[in-house]
Amino acid sequence: MKSTLRVLLLLTLLAGALAADARALSTPFEDSDGRRTPTYDETMGWLAELADCSNQIEVRSFGFSPQGRSLPLVVVDRDGRFDADAHRGRTDHVVLLVQACIHAGESCGKDAGMLLLRDMIEKPELAADLLDRVTLLFVPIFNVDGHERFGPYNRINQNGPEEMGWRVTGQNLNLNRDYLKADTPEMLAWLRMNNEWLPDFFIDIHSTDGADYQYPVTYSLETRGNMDPGLTAWTLEYEAAMNQAMTADGDPMAPYVAFKEWHDPGSGLKTWAATPRFSQGYAAIQNRPGLLIETHMLKDYPTRVEGARRLVTHTLSWLNREAVQLRGLVLAADSATASPSFRTEPFPLSFDLTDSATTVSFDGVAYETATSEVTGGQYTRFTGEPKKMEMQFFGEHVPSVTADLPEAYIIPPEWRVAVERLEAHGVVFRRLAKPVELEIRTSIFSDAKWEERPYEGHHPVTFSSESKIETRLFPAGSVVVDMNQRAARVAAHLLEPQGPDSLVKWGYFDAVFERVEYVESYVIEEMIPKMLEDDPDLAAELAERKAADPEFAADPWAIRYWFYAQTPYYDSRVGIYPVGSLDSRGVVDGLPLE
Ligand SMILES: [Zn+2]
Repeated sequence: MKSTLRVLLLLTLLAGALAADARALSTPFEDSDGRRTPTYDETMGWLAELADCSNQIEVRSFGFSPQGRSLPLVVVDRDGRFDADAHRGRTDHVVLLVQACIHAGESCGKDAGMLLLRDMIEKPELAADLLDRVTLLFVPIFNVDGHERFGPYNRINQNGPEEMGWRVTGQNLNLNRDYLKADTPEMLAWLRMNNEWLPDFFIDIHSTDGADYQYPVTYSLETRGNMDPGLTAWTLEYEAAMNQAMTADGDPMAPYVAFKEWHDPGSGLKTWAATPRFSQGYAAIQNRPGLLIETHMLKDYPTRVEGARRLVTHTLSWLNREAVQLRGLVLAADSATASPSFRTEPFPLSFDLTDSATTVSFDGVAYETATSEVTGGQYTRFTGEPKKMEMQFFGEHVPSVTADLPEAYIIPPEWRVAVERLEAHGVVFRRLAKPVELEIRTSIFSDAKWEERPYEGHHPVTFSSESKIETRLFPAGSVVVDMNQRAARVAAHLLEPQGPDSLVKWGYFDAVFERVEYVESYVIEEMIPKMLEDDPDLAAELAERKAADPEFAADPWAIRYWFYAQTPYYDSRVGIYPVGSLDSRGVVDGLPLE
């Protein structure tokens, strides 16, 4: 009797344990038949349960959001090597970072990742195929505060799940515009994590907005000139392999769908080189290939989750086979960027699309132009009928803005806003041990115009600039950024003023444009007669200026300031970029550095 009871008890306990495991291993997405995506707390709880089931998974935090939520980082490694240090210097193994919910309403990557993690734990043979030479870092929710602005009405264009997070952070900032300017605590935490791991490949998972078409998954890869050539060639091979694998599954994918003319499918398809405010554009300038996944928002939620899961799985499988080659190319790109030969060609900061096009076959949806009786506006109405289309594809880009990179940049220590960002991005620098007078190349800005409406909490500025050589005394503590370093592309994008995401353009140097000392009218008016008397050419110059510019001629204050500008009292620093470029290796090597 006693032993029967014991056996029964044991069986009950065993059944209980199995039930607990089964519960832990089905995801909230599955439990709701694909209708729900879990909240932050549910996600964290589920991941903790999953980690309890396996010694190959560790759930970590890479920082905290402004609202105090932990930023989750799941590390999956078959050998339990959960520290970045354990992977440094390895040549036969790669680290893949997969990120979801940077736009928290676009949650398919979170659910796809949870399914994939569970499957890899349940099926050791799958883990062997995917993780033998790959360590997986998974960020299920990057925008954690936006994610908890949870509700059914956050994505008007999107077909499910029932409720979802919000696009931007608690501070109303879009993390996928913040990569280079790094304003948000979330991004600063992400950059620390990225610097620590420097993942060899990066995937950022979104759901798109935009047109209707048949593809459940579209993607973008940086193959247009903004990444190291070796990595670009590898990425083209990867792209072909992924297209082949997704087609073999019965669901082909297409490059990110953007029409040449906004909302006009007839204008053809175009690609672009992402600027470093975007995740994959940023990865590119850190010498790491990145994949942007955009599942199609009109497809039902399970289709989107499944599409993302398949593409991440195919990528893992490819990386597992290609680990040695990719790792070699990544390390080669790092040393090529750090070598002097990197600076022999002008560095492309931004690109223009050319008019050159090919014709591609596109699995579209039939459309017509409709006119609204209410708004009076015309719009493209998709009929829902699948239609194979021949479309023009514009995919050729040429550099539109380039910079001659210096041997080093030098930044006066008071421009801490720039120095802090260099530090956040892992750009290496040293400081002057004592003051040094140096001849530098810099820029003088004019025609500055600020955007009237805020964009990402800034009023970005556009300006003209001219190169200027000057001799300047740099105080002790000035920051010297030697460009012989792997992060040279990042430094150039931050510090070259004409870069699309430069610190100047985001407004971090706005104070440079301000004139802050003034002249009283009675002071300058009484100086003017003497100035005209002392300099016989001045009257002629004034007459010329007046003739050329009637507005100036009619504005006494403009004329007074014209005279003020001829005096030594005028602020000669207005509009001059504080950052200097040093073009001589000998000078850089001779600097007294701390
Ligand atoms: Zn998005």
